[in-house]
Amino acid sequence: MDMKAYDNARKAILKDAAGAKGVKGKISCPACKTGTLFYEIMRNGRVCTQCNTTGCLAWMK
Ligand SMILES: [Zn+2]
Repeated sequence: MDMKAYDNARKAILKDAAGAKGVKGKISCPACKTGTLFYEIMRNGRVCTQCNTTGCLAWMK
């Protein structure tokens, strides 16, 4: 997996959430361009995300 894709996705998520924590949301996936990227930002700032495209972004950290 391309780390740059993760970095771009993380930035897009943080921008979409506008600094909020303890929230869930979704954005159009910046990596595959066709999928929907579902995300959750934990209260401690950790970001979990998963794209609905098989083989695309999915991570917890
Ligand atoms: Zn994707």
